[in-house]
Amino acid sequence: GEITLGNFAEKLGVNASELIKKLFLKGQMLTINSVIDMTLAEELADDYDAMVEQEEVEEMAFGEKFNLESEDKESDLIERAPIITIMGHVDHGKTSLLDAIREANVADGEAGGITQKIGAYQIVKDGKKISFVDTPGHEAFTEMRARGAQVTDIAILVVAADDGVMPQTVEAIAHAKSADVPIIIAVNKIDKEGADPSRVKNELMEHGLVPVEWGGDVEFIEISAKFGQNLEGILDTILITAEMLELKGNPKKRAKGVVMESRLDPKVGPIADVLVQEGTLKIGDIIVAGESYGKVRALLNDKGEKTEAASLSQPAEVIGFNTVPEAGDVMYVVQNEQHARRIVEEVEKDRKLNDQNKKKHISLEVLSQHMDDINLKELNLIIRADSKGSVQALKESLNKLSTSEVAVNVIQATSGAISEGDIRLAEASDAIILGFNVRPTTKAMRDADKAGVEIRTSSIIYQIVEDIEQALSGMLDPEY
Ligand code: GDP
Repeated sequence: GEITLGNFAEKLGVNASELIKKLFLKGQMLTINSVIDMTLAEELADDYDAMVEQEEVEEMAFGEKFNLESEDKESDLIERAPIITIMGHVDHGKTSLLDAIREANVADGEAGGITQKIGAYQIVKDGKKISFVDTPGHEAFTEMRARGAQVTDIAILVVAADDGVMPQTVEAIAHAKSADVPIIIAVNKIDKEGADPSRVKNELMEHGLVPVEWGGDVEFIEISAKFGQNLEGILDTILITAEMLELKGNPKKRAKGVVMESRLDPKVGPIADVLVQEGTLKIGDIIVAGESYGKVRALLNDKGEKTEAASLSQPAEVIGFNTVPEAGDVMYVVQNEQHARRIVEEVEKDRKLNDQNKKKHISLEVLSQHMDDINLKELNLIIRADSKGSVQALKESLNKLSTSEVAVNVIQATSGAISEGDIRLAEASDAIILGFNVRPTTKAMRDADKAGVEIRTSSIIYQIVEDIEQALSGMLDPEY
């Protein structure tokens, strides 16, 4: 969303003139009516120890747009299984926990565990079903949320007792909180020497997760995923938490689900692993997901068995799409094929429009390929390097590359990591960013991606120089 400096000052609880002055001293002339962007807002808020949260400007969800959502009659609603995502820092034991729970719940008859990976699996505990998203880590979680699909009811945060809270632990907490999903802490690796569960508690307290026994509302369960110790504790806590959430769904309506994973099988064609969220998906149903549509020809459950239907919170492998849908696409069952085709056409149109509107900035590859037909008079570069000396060296070498057709301008050259500010500058001046022995910050990388700004990094100065030289002569090897 957009906000004026005046409104922003009000939200911060400071005087607008104070902000104007502050910005002026930083070399920015703004008025009370100037619109400020997110990056600037964050910078300013930082100075006041405040946090900026962007209102999500969501495009109208697909389902709403095509009128695919419907109200449920209270009497049609039944209890449904909770959907669990396991998050946490790398190596803290997410995969081990997912595997341990799955294996512990393979019924005797199916010894050997003929489970197959279809993006999610379901187990039964005390007669109650629980579904697990079978992709550890919060990347999938975030990615899906960014695409408007929320497929998690409860997050299990795995924290290794010998390692404590680490950066991705903190990130996972932020994601779960922003999705408003309850968190259960699995204090893992308690079998290890040096395991210190109380340290984990203390550290998580600092992030607002207060254990139940200390008067808070967060359950801490000590486990060993490797030795299958206290998995019961985790499952019991999931069931108790789920009960409080009173999760319900309508199995009677047309199905809606989320594509968790997808691939093209040379024999059977496109396959989508779908987690059904509403309704019941049946063979013969007409389905749409993103730019794919089709008719359900076959359904397989998480044990690889053919099945006739998949209902609330159940994962299923769906065969019948005409093309491969993308992970994160929401899948709907629609009335008939005609309707499906119409939706897909609309979605395609929307995407093309979006692609066109996406601003693209200059890239070396494009430059190299179109040296002859684009009339580029100057190539703007922003340099970042690990030391003042290398900044200087790089700047000098690059400045020498100007040709009679193209002037090479180094518009900024500094040491340190590639920052959001660099991206903004590159965007505004259509520049390419070159990094020597430095990397972009996460935020910078994201911004660059969004803005279509090219960042090239290398640990060899001459390679950077050579790339520019080759691009200018139309000879850049596109395989970089
Ligand atoms: P992920 O990156 O979070 O998915 O972590 P993994 O499940 O791959 O586990 C990382 C490493 O920790 C592996 O070598 C596991 O065997 C080990 N590990 C996981 N859980 C435990 C545990 O409870 N105890 C011990 N001792 N090792 C564990």
